[in-house]
Amino acid sequence: MHMLITGGAGFIGSHLAEALLAQGHTVTAVDNLSTGRYANLAGLIGRPDFQFVHESIANETVMDRLVSACSAIFHLAAAVGVELIVKNPVATLETNIQGTEMILRLARRYRRQVLLASTSEVYGKSTQVPFQEDADRVMGPTARSRWSYAESKAIDEFLGLAYHRQFDVPVMICRFFNTVGPRQTGAYGMVVPRLVQQALAGQPLTVYGTGQQTRCFCNVRDTVRAVWQLAATPQAVGEIYNVGSQEEITIGELAERVRARTGSAAPIDFIPYEQAYEKGFEDMQRRVPSIDKIRAAIGWQPTILLDQTLDEVIADFRQAGSDRIESASPGADS
Ligand code: UDP
Repeated sequence: MHMLITGGAGFIGSHLAEALLAQGHTVTAVDNLSTGRYANLAGLIGRPDFQFVHESIANETVMDRLVSACSAIFHLAAAVGVELIVKNPVATLETNIQGTEMILRLARRYRRQVLLASTSEVYGKSTQVPFQEDADRVMGPTARSRWSYAESKAIDEFLGLAYHRQFDVPVMICRFFNTVGPRQTGAYGMVVPRLVQQALAGQPLTVYGTGQQTRCFCNVRDTVRAVWQLAATPQAVGEIYNVGSQEEITIGELAERVRARTGSAAPIDFIPYEQAYEKGFEDMQRRVPSIDKIRAAIGWQPTILLDQTLDEVIADFRQAGSDRIESASPGADS
């Protein structure tokens, strides 16, 4: 099949492109390189079964052509990363809502399947861990831009489900929980690449808040396996699935592990949220997915433990050399 990946030069998109190509599909990746990187596709450029289109998903003429030419769409293009979202709230809302709306309209026009990438952020500050797909969502006030990301993705989900119910467009939704692995950049706030870059550069590791908040980090290879398996499962149409690991860790412990595994002697700095993000910033204290639904649907569960993932990320940054490590220095990511 001919697969179209929006956000195909991004961290998850580029890994998905490789996985789909490995299964014999043809892949077109479209990306405006705002947060995606051409270097992520370095191993794929020049292959006859792969095409990269440097374009924004807001360009309807181009997207119309790409959607008409493909068999199925993986819609991953989005404004991502909490830090970026706090800095760029307008772009977040516009890209995430208008972009998805257009993809769905085109999918309807050409009768194409769409897999929508959503996020664990949609659960907001719910304390009902592990989060189940049909659980209530708990959001903060609209005056705090952090929540605009969760809300924009929730609107995407509403739109996707509505196009499915009303127009019979085959839509499925994945909620990703803290996906990590090689090629992820720390430039937009993600904690694992940031801590690894800091440790390798001998800079203090920045832990926000008390460091007692927890996350479950899922290796991107496990994540993309869930994505392509779901896309090949007709019963997944019209459904939402959590995609994440259940290996829960505090951010403080994560920093300790990064230090140990890099052999770094750099100190750990605790930074108040207000200083790291914005005044009144609210963080999630615990975030753990229920994976019962996806396990029942396709038998999926993560296979890669966090320590192995950390070693892969560390090796990736070591290989990339000092340029990428230098870019971890404070203030370099604006
Ligand atoms: N975080 C941190 N130091 C950093 C970046 C992030 O302590 O340099 C924290 C952040 O406040 C959150 C957790 O790490 O509690 C995960 O942040 P990330 O942005 O990776 O993902 P989120 O779960 O917030 O979407």
